Formats: sequence, structure tokens, C-alpha cells
Amino acid sequence: MFVDIAKIHLKAGKGGDGAVSFHREKYVAAGGPDGGDGGKGGNIVFKADSNLSTLADFRYKRKYIAENGQNGGTSRCTGKSAPDLVISVPVGTLIKDSETGRIIADISDDQPVIIARGGNGGWGNQHFATSTRQVPRFAKSGNPGEEMDVTLELKLLADVGLIGFPNVGKSTLVSVVSEAKPKIANYHFTTLTPVLGVVRMGEGSSFVMADIPGLIEGAGEGVGLGHEFLRHVERCRMLLHVLDISGSEGRDPIEDFDKINNELRVFSDELAQRPQIVVGNKCDLIDEDEINRISKYFEDKGYKFFPIMAAIAEGTDRLVNYVASELQKLPPILKYEAEPKPMEEIKPITKREFKISVREGIFYVEECDWILDVMNTVDPEDYESLQYFERVLRQTGIIKALEDAGIEEGDTVNVYDVEFDFVP
Ligand code: GDP
Ligand code: MG
Repeated sequence: MFVDIAKIHLKAGKGGDGAVSFHREKYVAAGGPDGGDGGKGGNIVFKADSNLSTLADFRYKRKYIAENGQNGGTSRCTGKSAPDLVISVPVGTLIKDSETGRIIADISDDQPVIIARGGNGGWGNQHFATSTRQVPRFAKSGNPGEEMDVTLELKLLADVGLIGFPNVGKSTLVSVVSEAKPKIANYHFTTLTPVLGVVRMGEGSSFVMADIPGLIEGAGEGVGLGHEFLRHVERCRMLLHVLDISGSEGRDPIEDFDKINNELRVFSDELAQRPQIVVGNKCDLIDEDEINRISKYFEDKGYKFFPIMAAIAEGTDRLVNYVASELQKLPPILKYEAEPKPMEEIKPITKREFKISVREGIFYVEECDWILDVMNTVDPEDYESLQYFERVLRQTGIIKALEDAGIEEGDTVNVYDVEFDFVP
């Protein structure tokens, strides 16, 4: 079965914990702290694979969990970072946040994309030595990896999309102009999965044509088959609207044309505006006058009209030549931009509460959970990052409160077990 939408759960790896350890050597009474940092947790990365054409694999496996980073060791040994978990998807897969529908990425080129980030490892106690406190007994635990539900949605990459009622000859057309061999038969809905065919023209003007299952009335509103397949022509630069102009099934081709365009509008106004060429198929079944009448009808409406007999490849060369030349003038295949995270997803620092207490000469900053988010982003080896931390301490009034409590230069400050010397 063809699957072009799937919802899965991602959990990136947790960072390893920092280690608490002390340098030991013969005849050295107390060595310095040498606990190493934890390794980074594994990311979850998505990558396009041109050999895949459906999201069927994701129906059976729905949870993807990357490995955790290793904990830090003694002797400043950094824990091993976990490898990325790489998930292959068909070219043209959109990744959306299941909760908000936000587009996180469009996997439509060779570029792998990190979707869920692994947590950073915690710092070992090697970072926490201070002049007043030579024996730090703390280390930070690793940060959790990102965890989320995402919806994968396949939107094929094709230059030209074929649309039209069932049985009008769309698959026949693809099979005569490209190497693709979709199933052709004289009954409705023979084509149940989209098929891509490469139409080989000269250098630089070859293009990809997508044969999608036939649309039926009400498809745009989600009635029956069709609506879900419209997403496969959403990226197309141009649409070929195929009609059975012989009315061999008792329908009127012009009515068919209007109905399908209504479906397109219901699905997406933008898609309804896409350049459209009208292809009148099964010309062998009607006489010249009738062909001319229909041709005139569409040309009067401003459409380019091509009468063809797909079954014997009559008129199809003219058609593909015209399509190739028109494509030169059109913008490239639509690529979806990642949408930025809405502001509310980034936690603002709203709570500024804290408490200072002094025990055994150490100034503890407590009861301020909000600061943990800040500390998780601070890199102790990076000067700018430390300055940022200092700014936060100043702006939130912590420095002032420490001074009010009688702190002096060189005294030790302890914020959730991270210690540093006070510098006014
Ligand atoms: P689709 O459902 O639009 O993909 O239509 P198909 O390509 O499967 O064709 C439906 C039927 O129309 C098949 O029996 C084809 O052989 C027939 N057909 C396709 N092109 C022509 C044509 O030019 N003339 C005639 N008479 N029949 C055709
Ligand atoms: Mg078909």
C-alpha cells in the first residue's frame, strides 16, 4: 500500500553526566579535581534517499531514539559522544511539528538536516575548582535531548503534474513520453500510487512528470480518493490537465475540466493558479469538427490546447516540446522554507526569584530554578558565554543581593553546585 503520511516520535540522546574525580598520585596528599565532561547525546538526522518512494516503513516503526552520550571519566577524560541516528526518507518529505503543524524541514536535496538535537554533556568537576575551594565535589548532569512528535508528509518533486478524471489517459501519456511504466487499464483508479517519469529531452531540458491517481468530484473536500494525492502536484511548476475529449464514458470534457478546477481551488487557491495546459486525449474517437470546437473553446479562454492520441503517441512530441520550452520560463520546483519556532516555545525568564544564604563562608544562590535554563546554555570555557552569565546575574539583581549580604572579592559563590569566585 502507498503511504505518504506518517506520524512518528523522536527522542534525541541525553548528554552524559560530568564526572567528580580527583587527581591521585603517590605522595601527593590531595590532587586537584579532574572529572571529565559528559559526551554529547546523539542527534536525530533526516536524509533524503532517492531509492525510497513511500513512507511505508514508518507505519511499523514509530519510535526513534538516539543513544545517550557517555558519562565523563577520571583524569579529565571526556565521555564519548553518541553517534547521530540517521533516518532515510523519500526525496520531497516534509517534516512538520505534529502539535502545531509548523514546517521544520523539507528534505528535498542531499543536505541532511538535524531535527532533534542531542543534549550537551554536563561539565565534570575539573571546571569547578576555585581558589577558595580546591575540592569541588560537584559536576553537572547532562542535558536531555530534544523529544517531539513529527508528521512526515511526502510531496513529490516533479516539474509537471498530470491531473484529470480517472480513465482519461494520464498513465498512457506518461508511458509514451517517459521510461516510466505505470499500470494502464480501462477501469477507474488503476493508478493508486503516484508515478514519476523522466521525459528525456536535450541537455538541460529534460523534466519530470508525475502521474497521480485520478481526481474525483469532492476530492478537494476530502471525499474519497484524490484529495490526499493533490499534495503530490503541489510542488509542480506546471499542470497538464488531461481530458477524454471523446466523452467516451458519457461525460462532457468541458464539464470535467471545470469540476477538476473546482477541486483544485478547494484544495489550494495557489495550486489552482499554477500554469495549466489542456490536453485533449482520445482524438481518434471523434471527428475533426468536434476537436476544433473543443480546441477553440479552450483557446478562447486563454489556455494552450493540445489534441493528442496518447495510445499511439500521436501529438505527444509537440506537447512535450512545448512543455519543455515553457518550463524554461517558470520558477524552479517549490521548496518549503522551514518555519521559525514561535516565540512562546522559547522560555522567557519571567521568574526572578532567588534567595541568598551564607554557610561556612560560601554564598549560596538558591530557590531560583529559572536560572538552570540559563546555566544550561553557558559554556565555561567560552569568555563571551561567561560574560552573558554575569550579565544575567547583574540584571536579575543577584550581584546586588550578594553585595548586600556582605560578599567580598574572592569569596565563593555557589549556584546550584556550580561554584565560582566573586569578582565585583
Ligand atoms: P488514467 O486513468 O487517466 O491513467 O487512464 P489510462 O492511461 O489508464 O487509460 C485509460 C484507458 O484509455 C485505457 O484503456 C487506455 O488504453 C485508453 N486510452 C488511452 N489513450 C487513448 C487514446 O488516445 N485513444 C483511445 N481510444 N483510448 C486511449
Ligand atoms: Mg492512471
